[in-house]
Amino acid sequence: MHNLRKFCYCGEEAVVIQSWSVDNPGCRFYGCPFYERDSRSACNFFMWFDPPNSEHLKMVILGLLKKKRAFDALLNENRNQRNWRRLCVLILIAIVLKLIVLGSSKDCYIM
Ligand SMILES: [Zn+2]
Repeated sequence: MHNLRKFCYCGEEAVVIQSWSVDNPGCRFYGCPFYERDSRSACNFFMWFDPPNSEHLKMVILGLLKKKRAFDALLNENRNQRNWRRLCVLILIAIVLKLIVLGSSKDCYIM
């Protein structure tokens, strides 16, 4: 089944695309190669690559996707907090260096 080349209505060799829709998460299908570059110039060729998933498998995949999104959001939040901490440390270092430079230049005028 998969060793036969598939061609879209444009005459191009169809490509395998993965669906992340709620109804068909993780299912692969053949589609027009122009779809991912510019969907307006693509034809509407569509053919399933994989057999349909069971309802149980759909629920498992959707649950894992939900956990991944929550994890990504937490990771992004931690990254933002870490960037703020780094910025505060850099500002503090700049203030200390400025005070040191001002302090040493003051000493030069006294001498
Ligand atoms: Zn096409």
